[in-house]
Amino acid sequence: MLKFLTCLTTQHDLRLVLIAGLVCLAGCFTTFRLYSRMRGARGVVRAAWLLLTGLVAGSSVWATHFIAMVAFTPGLKTGYSPTGTLLSLMIAVLFMGGGFAVASAQRSTTNDFAGGVLLGLGVAAMHYMGMSAFVTQGHLVWEHATVGLSAILGVSGATAALVLAGQARSARGQAIGGGLLCLGIVALHFTGMSAITIVPDASVAVPDQLLSGGMLTLAVGSITSMIILGGLGAVAIESQTSRSALERIRRLANAAYEGLVVVQSGRINDANAAFCDLVGAELSELVGRPLLGAILTFDESGPNREGVRREGKLRPIAGGREIPVEVFSRLMDDGARVETSGLTVLAVRDLRERRAAEEKIRYLAEHDGLTGLPNRNSLQTRLAAAIERVEASGESLSVICVDLDHFKEANDQHGHVAGDAILVEAARRLQLTVQAPSFAARLGGDEFIVVQIAGGDQPGAAAELAGALIERLSAPAPYAGQELALGASLGVSLYPDDGRTAEALMANADMALYRAKESGRGVYRFFKREMDDSIRERRNLARDLRQGIADGELIVHYQPLARATDGEVCGFEALARWKHPTRGMIPPLEFIPVAEENGLIGALGEWVLRRACADAASWEKPLRIAVNLSPIQLHNPALPSLVHEVLISTGLSPSRLELEITESALFKDYQRALDNLRRLKALGVRIAMDDFGTGFSSLSTLQSFPFDKIKIDKSFVENIHRHDRATVIVRAVLGLGRSLEIPVVAEGVETEEQILFLRGENCTELQGYAIGRPAPVDALAAWTMATAGAPARQPAETRRAVKRSA
Ligand code: C2E
Ligand code: CA
Ligand code: CA
Repeated sequence: MLKFLTCLTTQHDLRLVLIAGLVCLAGCFTTFRLYSRMRGARGVVRAAWLLLTGLVAGSSVWATHFIAMVAFTPGLKTGYSPTGTLLSLMIAVLFMGGGFAVASAQRSTTNDFAGGVLLGLGVAAMHYMGMSAFVTQGHLVWEHATVGLSAILGVSGATAALVLAGQARSARGQAIGGGLLCLGIVALHFTGMSAITIVPDASVAVPDQLLSGGMLTLAVGSITSMIILGGLGAVAIESQTSRSALERIRRLANAAYEGLVVVQSGRINDANAAFCDLVGAELSELVGRPLLGAILTFDESGPNREGVRREGKLRPIAGGREIPVEVFSRLMDDGARVETSGLTVLAVRDLRERRAAEEKIRYLAEHDGLTGLPNRNSLQTRLAAAIERVEASGESLSVICVDLDHFKEANDQHGHVAGDAILVEAARRLQLTVQAPSFAARLGGDEFIVVQIAGGDQPGAAAELAGALIERLSAPAPYAGQELALGASLGVSLYPDDGRTAEALMANADMALYRAKESGRGVYRFFKREMDDSIRERRNLARDLRQGIADGELIVHYQPLARATDGEVCGFEALARWKHPTRGMIPPLEFIPVAEENGLIGALGEWVLRRACADAASWEKPLRIAVNLSPIQLHNPALPSLVHEVLISTGLSPSRLELEITESALFKDYQRALDNLRRLKALGVRIAMDDFGTGFSSLSTLQSFPFDKIKIDKSFVENIHRHDRATVIVRAVLGLGRSLEIPVVAEGVETEEQILFLRGENCTELQGYAIGRPAPVDALAAWTMATAGAPARQPAETRRAVKRSA
């Protein structure tokens, strides 16, 4: 040690020693910075960094050595052989590169150690190779133990440097590594120097062409500085570019709407702003925390394959509701960087909004917008589920069809807003009465369904609930300061007696409801098998009729009306006929009521009117055509304009059209009916009172409107001479017609006796099988042609029948 210090202080120029030390320190520090870059890279980039590391390390060791040698002043002339000097540089670079390559080949202390040993040996080899290039006027005598010690010091320093610096990621690691390596180099050098004793020998010549100290210092110093600076520059540029790239990526990540989180070995490594917002924490709080299981859980476990979308829940750090999320994960790997290997990026998308929207859509799809009750769609599924439930548990189930009474009237009288208020109120009362698991649903219009589940023994339970529902629903509903009449009719079907499926139970409850309405409303009825057939029959007929009207299955037959005096046909009555494809002819007395009940009469009546007017317009003789009007048609305010339009489009003169109405048609809404009649009459159309005698037959009816004709119902005509009462009535009506100056037609005239009687009583016209049966339009030619050359069979017979009676 003493010798080492003596050597250093007495034989060295201390200023140059200081420079050597500084060059060494700078070189070693730079070396470790480069080394850290090299460890973070792969492939060619890694090789380039390794080359640069070796170059900087080697040249630093070498420069340190030579500057220190120049600082060495043994007091003799000295020089350096160029070959040895160059060789020592190559050795330094090779060993340094090799040492760092070994150390970084694998991440283990053994590698660091082996690499360190190689570095140390490299420093020693360089030093002693450099010493062999040293020429002075004398002989060098080596103290071998000290030489060994110097090598040990060098190897120790280098090994410690690599082991302690590890991957040299941080500046601190780089400083430690650089410092220790520098210490090892310096220690080796000066210990090595103290191992020499120079025995002066004047015979040893120092050739002049050898490199001199001053030149060497300058050359070595500047070249090494440049190399070191180059290395530092490279590191600086590289870290700057990667920093700004990282910054760009971070900005991009923060701008992302999705949460992005980087995970390494299960722990959070980094996250963007959106992710921090989602979990409600600062990035600094998140880094290092485990992600899966703690913050993020997946709905179903399974292989976490890359790029596969998975759904899960995110638990906010501060607690609170879990957030449903969708997660895509991807392994992050840019190929050239070790830092990014083993990192997984997870894109985390907040599903709350989507879920809320889905929820809303589902709600809207399953509920009635007005009352909030389950709608028809969800009723089907709910009822099916309820049936499944009671099937398994053996509990009871009933389906109650609820139809509000007087709803249409209230809607018509007070408007839709009032109608809506009634529906909402009714729904509220249903829900108040029905207890879970039973429920109420709205079918549409004013129809509701109550499904009673596990209510107790049937039919008692259903009867009790139905009674309660009627009571609740019959209290008037308050609306805008007034009270609207409310009430309900109910039909009940029971599981399993009345059906085992939702469809059957609902259809049968509906059937029972129909009966309840028929028996005067405000009551409930249980389904009975017998109801089934008659109602189903009517339903089917309605369905077929709707189709039949569209398919042109309806036709019109015409029945002649003849003048009573001479039997001359003066007009026809249009009578609708329905040729059903499977059931054959269906009489109007069967299908007209069905059409009226099912809202089909408007279309049917319009069609008959149009057909009849068109046919009549094509006849050569301007005979009258009578068309029957249903009460419903008569109450339609659009009737006069329809008739007007039909007359115009068919070209029929209004005076030829006669509309037949029954007395009862007038009574429903007397004023409106009269209004319509007046407007029709104003068109020039004639109005006949049909079926006179069957209704109220009050004189006031005849006085209130100037009818153009009275038709005595056939039930009286057929009883002439059979019942005195009928004969009296026919006589009275004929007398009434005479006094009011209204022509009278007798319907259903079948016999000569009847004709005689009616003519004797001054009846105006006759209609009936005795005159002619209703027939299709193409059978009328003999009556409708202007020149009846050879009279056809039927009209001839007609005339004969009338004349015989004359
Ligand atoms: P209505 O207006 O009283 O028609 C006369 C009915 O008596 C017709 O029956 C006709 O065929 C029948 N009839 C005619 N002469 C005789 C006879 O000598 N003896 C007997 N026993 N019956 C006779 P139809 O065609 O079955 O019509 C029945 C009812 O259907 C009609 O009674 C009418 O109220 C209604 N109707 C027919 N077509 C239409 C239509 O286009 N519109 C409307 N609204 N109702 C129609
Ligand atoms: Ca008629
Ligand atoms: Ca009639």
